[in-house]
Amino acid sequence: MKILVINSGSSSLKYQLFNMETESVLAKGLIQRIGIEDSFLEYENGEGEEIVIEKDIPTHKVGIELLLETLLSDDHGVLESMDEVEAVGHRIVHGGEAFAHSTIIDDEAIKNLEDVADLAPLHNPPNIMGIKVCKELMPDKPQVGVFDTAFHQSMPEKAYIYALPYEYYKKYGVRRYGFHGTSHGYVAKRAAQMMDKPLSELKIITCHLGNGASVAAVKNGKSVDTSMGLTPLEGLVMGTRCGDIDPAIIPFIMDKEDISASEMDDILNKESGLLGVSGVSSDSRDVEDAAAEGNHQAEIAIELFNYRVKKYIGAYTAAMGGVDAIVFTAGIGENSKDTRAGVLEGLEYLGVEVDYEANDCRGKEVFISTADSKVKAMVVPTNEELVIARDTMELVNQ
Ligand code: AMP
Repeated sequence: MKILVINSGSSSLKYQLFNMETESVLAKGLIQRIGIEDSFLEYENGEGEEIVIEKDIPTHKVGIELLLETLLSDDHGVLESMDEVEAVGHRIVHGGEAFAHSTIIDDEAIKNLEDVADLAPLHNPPNIMGIKVCKELMPDKPQVGVFDTAFHQSMPEKAYIYALPYEYYKKYGVRRYGFHGTSHGYVAKRAAQMMDKPLSELKIITCHLGNGASVAAVKNGKSVDTSMGLTPLEGLVMGTRCGDIDPAIIPFIMDKEDISASEMDDILNKESGLLGVSGVSSDSRDVEDAAAEGNHQAEIAIELFNYRVKKYIGAYTAAMGGVDAIVFTAGIGENSKDTRAGVLEGLEYLGVEVDYEANDCRGKEVFISTADSKVKAMVVPTNEELVIARDTMELVNQ
């Protein structure tokens, strides 16, 4: 069985084609600059052969048509016929309260998705567009939606209700939803397998540290709290997002700088975080390099980043009444030994004993705590596309 996975953004679209018998990737890549000049499709087949097709791609429909042509092409293709593809799985950022699980997307589901689109105005409309185009181009294939928010729908009310007038929750759905759920769920499950213990008996803190970053408390396999909120802005320090701040800062700065709500929103989402504090870059590698050269703001940005993760680990240990494992994933979590060490340093009181030699690694599944460490620390590379493909297969097989 072959499953196509699509992650449709506003001007780019990521894809992977899986052979589910072996869970191997037959082809993957990215369509870039949709609707902008100099658009192109990047394509890599399972043998590692890479090509770039430069072509005018004014719409998502043209982009997906080009992708299907390429998958079928004599030169670089990996499919004889589209009949080989069983279904398409789509990453959808926000499922609101309507979607607690991955779902086959029929007309009613599209309507429900459109109803929650204003909760993620940048992400959901292009996600919905990707589904509609795939439905049009492949009308006989089931389309499945896999939601970043779904895994966190198990949070108790005390974790997701904000201390605002309750009517905003009732009227507008203002509550914590959380994101990166596919990743948190996947790495928690892998961590349990690595520990050779049932997920249903473990308290795990998963740290998804990428350009966007969030922490989740996963108790007995279920998310009981997470750091992102109504939107992905809350929680950790991120590449360009501020994470937790005193909300009173917002009207204060708007007043001082005489700026609108949308300008303020841009500052919080695009000009803050590692970039805002360091003044160097949103990329943690650049900030680490600048810090190593003695740039004070870069040093502070990194300290702040690590300190915030550490605080959440403390909070979630308290929330779960203990912790068995702390898991690092995503670009920074998988690659930066300094970040992992910076976060774990000082957690000896919790029972974390870091194995610094093991921690000197990148992008592979590994324990980074000592064999005797009461709390296990580990790196688990995430694989959101595989989870989307698995969920899609499971739903179409039912
Ligand atoms: P993601 O959003 O998961 O792609 O992660 C992006 C972040 O991961 C950026 O801040 C990168 O600097 C960081 N990252 C990616 N690769 C590395 C690496 N090899 N070493 C350190 N950080 C990395």
